Amino acid sequence: MPSRPSRRDLIAAAGVAAALAPAAAKAQAQEPAMPTSDKIGFAIVGLGKLSLNQLIPALKIAKGARLAAVVSGHPEKAKRVAAENGLPADAVYGYDDYDRIAKDPRIQVVYIVLPNSMHAEHTIKAFKAGKHVLCEKPMATTLADAEAMIAAAKAADRHLMIAYRCHYEAQNLDVMRRLRTRSMGKVRQINTTMGRQADLSDPSDVWRLDGKMSGGGALGDMGVYGVNAARYLLNEEPVAVQAWAQTDRSDPRFKETEDLINWQFRFPSGVIANGSTSFAYAPTMAFEVICEQGRLVADPAAFYGGNRLTVVKGGQALPPVPAPAGDQFAREMDWMADVVRGKAPMVSPGEEGLQDMRLMQAILESAAKDGATVKTDWGYRRAVDPAGVVDVAKA
Ligand code: NDP
Repeated sequence: MPSRPSRRDLIAAAGVAAALAPAAAKAQAQEPAMPTSDKIGFAIVGLGKLSLNQLIPALKIAKGARLAAVVSGHPEKAKRVAAENGLPADAVYGYDDYDRIAKDPRIQVVYIVLPNSMHAEHTIKAFKAGKHVLCEKPMATTLADAEAMIAAAKAADRHLMIAYRCHYEAQNLDVMRRLRTRSMGKVRQINTTMGRQADLSDPSDVWRLDGKMSGGGALGDMGVYGVNAARYLLNEEPVAVQAWAQTDRSDPRFKETEDLINWQFRFPSGVIANGSTSFAYAPTMAFEVICEQGRLVADPAAFYGGNRLTVVKGGQALPPVPAPAGDQFAREMDWMADVVRGKAPMVSPGEEGLQDMRLMQAILESAAKDGATVKTDWGYRRAVDPAGVVDVAKA
């Protein structure tokens, strides 16, 4: 196993010294939790699976972020969730009276956890109310909506962060850092597989299979992790894509969206990244990075917990890498809180979400032309490399 690079090496390798705020250099594990009154208040918008099972529990262990309000279309559920989490009755909002958050100083960040087609409307409302926004992936369902969200953030002079949790997850950061040090030589190829079986009896999957609400089925929901991973693993942007889709239209799940999509990104360094997504194959969120002298196999690579990394060098698997510690959702929300405080650089801004949306559109365009090459070098460059700045608790 390579020796752990020093922070100085990491910053030099990532070329982000200017963006690194001093406080971001402290390991999160060493930072004690703040008094509740000093924590940044988050309003969670949409009380579905992710909010109830991951985000609200994570806010209980976050060091600098706290739950301040909930926004829901179901008042009884919202009142119950508020009561269970010690919120007063006036910290419950509906989508109709959501504008009132402008007068609620307890809320500094609005976290949008709604079906994808609703992200833009509620993000823009939050900016008009003077709040910062953390928005779930995929950022939106159209490029126009994504651009409007970025413009609204600028007009309001507020932060827009896209919830790319892998930028704040220990194993993904570990792989990025290993690649930055080139300990196994140059990267030659990346393979990402991100998918699962969708289920029409689950209401959360009904909107994911609806073309308008999801904006692209498996690709926007799961494939986006592979698109984003290829980019953050390499800290480079693809210059061309070819893609192919295979969809059984007699399957009631795929009336409006594609099922299996495979794509191939070409990067300026010569790396080829193969990606695959499906809503009709066995669950997988995995990637493999093939370098000149070895392979890094992350399987799973992007689960909520239990991610596992195998390093293969010269054909031999090295001793297992200890499982990552810490809660990636808490780290992500703490990072947003530090961005709001001016103590950390923005790592996953709206522009990151827009770049993935453009690439996913290019994938669909190529797939519709049976693999025709679509150029993707639009000049976008990531402002801050997560590998250079994001600390996580040690295993
Ligand atoms: P759910 O379907 O479980 O929850 C969505 C919630 O949105 C609903 O419970 C509901 O909350 C609200 N909502 C408002 N209007 C509608 C509508 N017309 N149809 C359905 N729901 C509506 O979805 P998830 O929690 O799984 O996903 C939400 C977002 O989070 C998506 O953008 C998804 O891509 C993203 N996500 C990200 C993950 C990650 O790891 N980063 C993992 C899972 C999801 P209420 O009843 O309170 O109004």
